[in-house]
Amino acid sequence: MLHVEHLTFCYRRRETLSDLSFDVNLGEVVVVLGPNGSGKSTLLRCLCQILRPRNGLVTLNGGRLNSLSAEQIARKIAYVPQRLETAPFSVFDAVLLGRKPYFTWSPSPTDFQRVEEMLYRLELESFAQRPLHQLSGGEVQKTALARALVQEPELLLFDEPTSALDLKNQIDILRLVRDMIREKNIMAVMSIHDLNLAIRYADRFLLLKDGRLIGDVSRGELQPDVIEYVYGIPMEIHTSEKKVSFIIEKTFPN
Ligand code: ADP
Ligand code: MG
Repeated sequence: MLHVEHLTFCYRRRETLSDLSFDVNLGEVVVVLGPNGSGKSTLLRCLCQILRPRNGLVTLNGGRLNSLSAEQIARKIAYVPQRLETAPFSVFDAVLLGRKPYFTWSPSPTDFQRVEEMLYRLELESFAQRPLHQLSGGEVQKTALARALVQEPELLLFDEPTSALDLKNQIDILRLVRDMIREKNIMAVMSIHDLNLAIRYADRFLLLKDGRLIGDVSRGELQPDVIEYVYGIPMEIHTSEKKVSFIIEKTFPN
């Protein structure tokens, strides 16, 4: 379980996250919702200890994260940032880097096998030898997600993981992530802007507004008024006969 208690973070003197407390249970996919600047990326960076909170406690499966080295954290947490960097190495090598926490000098046959399996699952095999800086934004994003998934962490932190993907890839990736989380009984926390994608794959939502946690609800408990409050736009939630929910903006005169 990920346990967060009274987490507060300041960029210089400006409080950006204020007293956040929540838990993420094993097997759960949690989506952080909130408008631009509400603190989603800052929260994910605090969870993986890239940023050190001013106050509060973060524990992962019982252990405090702030006492661990970067290497120890890399075995437990995979983080994919919102802005991805590209380098002149191949997709295969970029994904293999995800196995780095498991080898010292050279990768083992198991490391290579994990990479090959993941490239296959994400339909990246034909890109394996292509250099990252010659790929499209979506291909780079898939490579970064593949790297995180081969890392076999206890917690996945994805910051807008589907922002550069087309509809099929968005669905394929989120379905794969959700299935892996359940299969391995691990956890994911991600920010996603597309509410309809979020409501399809999240078990629970954290709603952030101005660095405050104003909602912590399961998928079934998500109400339009809280979304309306967070985003400032009137919303409706509809559920189809097949029990698929979708969220739409209430039409109002322009
Ligand atoms: P979100 O991901 O929800 O869009 P962020 O976590 O990126 O929001 O940002 C939250 C707030 O912190 C914003 O007001 C942003 O301008 C500010 N902020 C983000 N990064 C920095 C930084 N490195 N230094 C100072 N302020 C920052
Ligand atoms: Mg962000």
